[in-house]
Amino acid sequence: MSTSTPSRSAFERTLKGACDRLGYSDAMFRLLASAAREIKVDIPILRDNGELAVFTGYRVQHQNARGPYKGGLRYHSSVDIDEVRGLASLMTLKTALVDIPLGGGKGGIECNPRELSPRELERLTRKFVQRIHREIGPETDIMAPDVGTNAQTMGWIYSEYGAIHALQPAVVTGKPLSLGGSPGRDKATGYGVALTIQAYAAHTKTKLEHKTAAIQGFGNVGHHAALCLKEMGVKIVAVSDSRGTIHCKDGIDIDRVMAKKKEFGRFDEMPGYELKEPAAVLELPCDYLIPAALGDAIHAGNAHKVKAAVIVEGANGPCTLDADRILGERKIPIIPDILANAGGVIVSYFEWVQNLQRHGWDLEKVDAELARTLKKAAHAVFEHAEDQKISLREACYDISVMRVKEALDATGF
Ligand code: NDP
Repeated sequence: MSTSTPSRSAFERTLKGACDRLGYSDAMFRLLASAAREIKVDIPILRDNGELAVFTGYRVQHQNARGPYKGGLRYHSSVDIDEVRGLASLMTLKTALVDIPLGGGKGGIECNPRELSPRELERLTRKFVQRIHREIGPETDIMAPDVGTNAQTMGWIYSEYGAIHALQPAVVTGKPLSLGGSPGRDKATGYGVALTIQAYAAHTKTKLEHKTAAIQGFGNVGHHAALCLKEMGVKIVAVSDSRGTIHCKDGIDIDRVMAKKKEFGRFDEMPGYELKEPAAVLELPCDYLIPAALGDAIHAGNAHKVKAAVIVEGANGPCTLDADRILGERKIPIIPDILANAGGVIVSYFEWVQNLQRHGWDLEKVDAELARTLKKAAHAVFEHAEDQKISLREACYDISVMRVKEALDATGF
């Protein structure tokens, strides 16, 4: 997929707003805005044809006052230090918002994984671990899959780290189940999106039955969000991928659309459904619009065309600052990324806990704990926003920033 690139300046401006509301000093703002450590490494590998190729890898460790650095590893051609920085800072706020004892980090390798063979990807991953193994570990910095990486990538990291140190499952999350992965991790982010909508409906005293949703992105997050929302009684009227939007105002059969996508690698004409441009999904009338694909998907050029009642950010940074302002003026609430897509990192945390305890949980327990953790965070955000008469994003930042500062203060610096 195309990567998501939440703008660093949007993060800093929103963070500054929170620091000003909370009366924090400029020095505190600078501390919260900047990363504790940034690692950049060259990664030389031999391609399958024997030629040398050199890639650039990054790991940004943003904040660990509340616990070890935690965040994904992304393989994409657009990866650069700015993107990784922005995503690392969002992780610090996300883990604080849902109140799990972890900090924030992010990594990436600038490459196009689709142009590398599985053996080349394995060499690249193992060499990256050789370069940064002293800086990561179960109590230091825990990586997880992100765009362009998956459970297999985490298996290679686990194995390479184990070859250098000792085999420790808690060094990565999002692993295959056979290596200590957690049940429920696959669907966790999409399920979290659905749980957040359920919490918002409860808070605003609306029923989910017969409400409608349109979802941009039909990958891990979008697909699972669609399935979970459908179970909650929501009608999915549109889903999109990088090449098209499938729309049916009477509701879409998600399994049927997924089967078609698996067969042809893309959406195709289907009787009873309209096939539209990829961006059309953003402009359809619905109760919940869930951008779950790209950063900056809703911007100054299209925010005024949104016809949804509520936006729920499945992706990281899908609304630009301009979009935030326009949607705010139009009184369309946005449930922000650091709340709406936090289900993934919450279940990653459960995986880490299970690994450290050497004791596996069943799916029922994982799902129940996820629902409890996320709903508690969501209700705190909704109440703070109402009390302070601020947006949901401002409320999320206030709560996260207060928690990180409290931990920093307690360390005595
Ligand atoms: P995937 O790679 O699994 O899926 C991404 C989907 O987005 C694909 O269906 C892709 O289409 C689609 N897409 C790409 N470009 C466009 C476009 N221009 N218009 C519409 N759809 C498009 O990614 P994930 O689902 O894992 O992640 C999605 C977002 O959620 C990212 O921003 C990620 O950072 C964020 N996120 C993910 C988490 C997770 O646990 N997976 C956790 C927290 C955040 P196609 O199928 O055609 O390639």
